[in-house]
Amino acid sequence: MSSQPAKLVVQKFGGSSLGEAARIRRVAQRIARARATGADLVVVVSAMGDTTDELLQLAAAITDDPDARELDMLLATGEHQSATLVSMALHALGVRAISLTGAQAGITTDASHGRARIANVEPRRVRRELDNGNVVIVAGFQGQRQGSADEDGGPGETTTLGRGGSDTTAVALAAALRAGRCQIFTDVRGIYTADPRLVPAARQLPVIGYEEMLELAQQGAQVMQVRAVELGWINDVEIEVLSSFEDAPGTLIREDPLVEQRNKVRGLAHDRNVAKVTLLAVPDRPGIARNVFGPLADAGVIVDMIVQNVGHDGATDISFTVPRVDLAKAEKVLQPVVGEMGARGITTDATVAKVSIVGAGLHNAPGYAARMFGTLADAGVNIEMISTSEVRITCVIGESGLSKALESLHAAFELERPDPVDAAALAAG
Ligand code: ASP
Ligand code: MG
Repeated sequence: MSSQPAKLVVQKFGGSSLGEAARIRRVAQRIARARATGADLVVVVSAMGDTTDELLQLAAAITDDPDARELDMLLATGEHQSATLVSMALHALGVRAISLTGAQAGITTDASHGRARIANVEPRRVRRELDNGNVVIVAGFQGQRQGSADEDGGPGETTTLGRGGSDTTAVALAAALRAGRCQIFTDVRGIYTADPRLVPAARQLPVIGYEEMLELAQQGAQVMQVRAVELGWINDVEIEVLSSFEDAPGTLIREDPLVEQRNKVRGLAHDRNVAKVTLLAVPDRPGIARNVFGPLADAGVIVDMIVQNVGHDGATDISFTVPRVDLAKAEKVLQPVVGEMGARGITTDATVAKVSIVGAGLHNAPGYAARMFGTLADAGVNIEMISTSEVRITCVIGESGLSKALESLHAAFELERPDPVDAAALAAG
């Protein structure tokens, strides 16, 4: 290992922190302060404000079916823009800086436009610029396709990493550069026991383990991209989520050796991007599940919870959830399938939501499921579907009961009470 890692920090600033020129100047001041402490800095940026959404809308105004390669070329410009502006803002403060595209920063990916996965990070240019005394500003959310030159499209094509992908860029660079820390600056102070907009009593967590954070992110907590947490876990990168608007302590995401000692429920997650699909009176015979879920998978629709009811008279109802944004696509795929199978029909409900309790110790502590269901019953919230994993219990409920469900679960599991283990851990650094 070189001597560099200890004082190298990767910082990432999200779109809302860069929404306008004044905010970019504020971010630059913050970077300059960190630079003044002597740290080497790699700064990953998202596109300004809602730029990515606006670019997507522009493309949609041109065509229903934009070419995937061209769309990535378009979306990548959002991050190019913010990277150059942050670099210029640093220059204006007398701080040496250079902006790099994802490709220039050495990020290569597979060929899946719009949701590419990072294949490799070779940050030679980044290191060289650091050695030259520059703060290196990297355009997040993008890379360049690897592969051999004779392949269709060839290497070097611009790819993007999926929505929220700048988090992944930051963690991947921190891992490749063996940075001491990866700081994610955002518009909230850190990770909370529940979304504070829905649960006023929600409490910020000083520390959370990778496993619990991954589960919260997967179940709808929007602070960090799921893949960024996964990458951090695999590479043991300590991630700090903190506010870009105020100087306040953030939340550390790291290996949590104290997990067994804590309150077993660590946090609540919720997700409104859910719809429920029910296929009515599907003939009960082998191959039916394949006929239903095969075409959905081919269409790229991710199916989450699946419930097959008890059959009667040779037929059975099958219910499952899909992302609400994919409901129209799912219906289109399923209409002909329903006909072919001889099922009675299809019903959908786009007014459901998922609530989850998450805690790494849940699986070896009995009674949590019963307490969750009892709490929802007392709150008058009907449970439509249930699923569990080692570290989570999730219920699908009507969306109108969401706030009530979250507030009563938060109270029932005493999440507003600071965890004494946290205080001890913080004191120990
Ligand atoms: N600008 C991209 C998006 O809005 C990537 C990111 O923000 O991380 O999804
Ligand atoms: Mg973003």
